[in-house]
Amino acid sequence: MVDLDALFRPRAVAVIGASRDRHSVGGAILHNLLAFEFQGQVFPVNPKASVVHSLKCYPTVEAIPDPVDLAVIAVPKPHVLEVMESCGRKGVRAVVVITAGFKETGEAGRALEREVVRVAKQHGIRLVGPNCMGIINMDPGVRLQASFSANEPLAGPVAFSSQSGALGEAILALLCERGLGLSMFVSLGNKADVSGNDLLEYWEQDPQTRLILMYLESFGNPQRFLEICQRVSKNKPIIAVKSGRTAAGARAAASHTGSLAGADNAVESLFAQSGVIRATSIEELFVFATAFASQPIPRGTRVAIVTNSGGPGILATDACIELGLQIPTLSETTQQRIRAAVAPEASVTNPVDMIATATGPQYEVAVRAAAEDPAVDAIITIFTSLEMIDGPSVAQGIIRGADGCDKPVLVCFMGNVRSREAIDLMRQAGLAVYVFPEDAARALAALVRYRHWLERPAGVRRWFDDIDEAAVNDIVRAARDQGRGQLTLVEAQQVLEHAGITVLPWREAQTRDEAVAAAGALGYPVVAKISSAIIVHKSEVGGVRVGLESEAQVALAFDEMMAAARARDEHASLVVQRQATHGTEVILGATRDAKFGPLLMFGLGGIFVEVMRDVVFRVHPLSDADAREMIRAAKSFPLLDGARGRPRADLAAIEAVILRLDQLMARCPDLGELDINPLFASPAGLPTAAADARVTLSPLAGR
Ligand code: ADP
Ligand code: MG
Repeated sequence: MVDLDALFRPRAVAVIGASRDRHSVGGAILHNLLAFEFQGQVFPVNPKASVVHSLKCYPTVEAIPDPVDLAVIAVPKPHVLEVMESCGRKGVRAVVVITAGFKETGEAGRALEREVVRVAKQHGIRLVGPNCMGIINMDPGVRLQASFSANEPLAGPVAFSSQSGALGEAILALLCERGLGLSMFVSLGNKADVSGNDLLEYWEQDPQTRLILMYLESFGNPQRFLEICQRVSKNKPIIAVKSGRTAAGARAAASHTGSLAGADNAVESLFAQSGVIRATSIEELFVFATAFASQPIPRGTRVAIVTNSGGPGILATDACIELGLQIPTLSETTQQRIRAAVAPEASVTNPVDMIATATGPQYEVAVRAAAEDPAVDAIITIFTSLEMIDGPSVAQGIIRGADGCDKPVLVCFMGNVRSREAIDLMRQAGLAVYVFPEDAARALAALVRYRHWLERPAGVRRWFDDIDEAAVNDIVRAARDQGRGQLTLVEAQQVLEHAGITVLPWREAQTRDEAVAAAGALGYPVVAKISSAIIVHKSEVGGVRVGLESEAQVALAFDEMMAAARARDEHASLVVQRQATHGTEVILGATRDAKFGPLLMFGLGGIFVEVMRDVVFRVHPLSDADAREMIRAAKSFPLLDGARGRPRADLAAIEAVILRLDQLMARCPDLGELDINPLFASPAGLPTAAADARVTLSPLAGR
């Protein structure tokens, strides 16, 4: 368990660099601590002043007579190191380094930052920053506002960490404006010590925090992030905005998988596997957070829409359907209850359109009836304000209708000047309030996705003890000894077999007679293909012939193909392989990201990969649940699952190959990129087998 209590629950705080100028950073932090009524002691430290902000000021932290848990450091960069030493001698247990000019400025700054961290570690001090805005803890027993933010947050369930200082400030402002209450805030800065992962673990234990928001620019330790989020997100939703790109897509790739692995796949996969709800923008972060902070998680996807105007009702319906939600017809009883209260022209099926004259009491009846309908999981209610209808009274009606309801109620108030009052009323009553129906639908869809995550089995990580990595490493070594970074088809297929992945029966032939004998042993028809470390895209150069039916055809294929191949690669040989007679072609692949580790890919073969780029990525380590979900996440998945009269593929067999590939990549770091294209996915009872493999070794440099 991460203990950050010295940071968030200090008994005494020193502000080092507390200036008498309220508008300097140090001055603002001291002012905020006092103005926010911090529940512990506050000590300004500044050698040039004897009193700051009516408090006795000390020349150094060591001169303070009482113990100090937390020091906020806002001194010029050249003094940070000596201040850290002084904090160490004083017995300070945590510091927030506001000062900038470290890692973010280049090599000299990086070196200085390392020194600062070294001193912190030496004294057992936890450090936030440097180059950050500070921290806030809204717990009424603490009331720590140790940042130079000018915002005055409300207390509430939302913990928020930001890797960007300025954006953190902007998001805090928006939280205040939207009435979203905060539990803790951390501006992480350069993350020299305390990381986003540490905060997640701390917030997991914090009773005030029910929802975690993160603005991320980079991952320090993606594997740990995955592990922590998988656990934490089962209890507390985590919503993250990630900006920036990974390096995966930056280099030219020899494999299909490498070329398809875009900049963002690793991040997207990491979020999918860890249950983190990804917001694509700050705006969406707020759309989601508004609902997650106040609403229960729906049990299903069935939405009732209650509106006073047709247009927005249709917009909401369209948005819901597009996002995979349902708008079922309301039950007979519910319809009757509503009909009894509304205008005769109203429509009471779903959406319930109560027409422009709808009043607060009518909203109350309709919202309550929808909420009590067992066939409804969530309610979106829309009010388009009109001159003659009083917004606040409609708000009261909605509040009463939703009272005691254990389903999410999302309100769209498309208002006029009097709406502000109405919106405040509804927010105070714990409703999620939006302007646009599409936003309510998006938020609801995110709540539903989270429900699916909660219900998804955690999955287990299988260990395959029949993967022979020693044999794989022998193949790698032999290739390296010949100065090669690419394996031949023969070697690549052997690698798969050592990983326990079935390959369609095959033999290598160096001569025409061997080729003919191989075909006879395998049984006709056969496929002939060139095995070479140089010719990797075989069919592009006539290096694959399918449907060979006789000895004569095999002999001719050998002569013609080998003559062409050996002109380019004297070591080329021929692989004779049994031809697949059934099965759907799928592609499996793996690549390696410097930061994220092995990245696995799945897709349906042919045009689905080449044209549609319909592929799904996941990061190592995959659980069986991840492999399951990965296959089903492909848009063309129905074609494997019996759509259009196709046979249903043995999905468990494909899952097993994915998991074996994941483990092979983890256990053999020399394998850089690997494609199985195609794998013939067969119906249950028939073998699922690879027909082609390509392996590129990891670059030697830097390993
Ligand atoms: P490459 O990808 O280097 O061009 P492949 O070995 O993948 O070479 O062969 C190209 C295509 O030929 C495959 O995508 C598949 O459609 C077909 N093919 C290859 N081997 C077999 C086989 N053993 N049985 C049936 N079809 C095959
Ligand atoms: Mg191929």
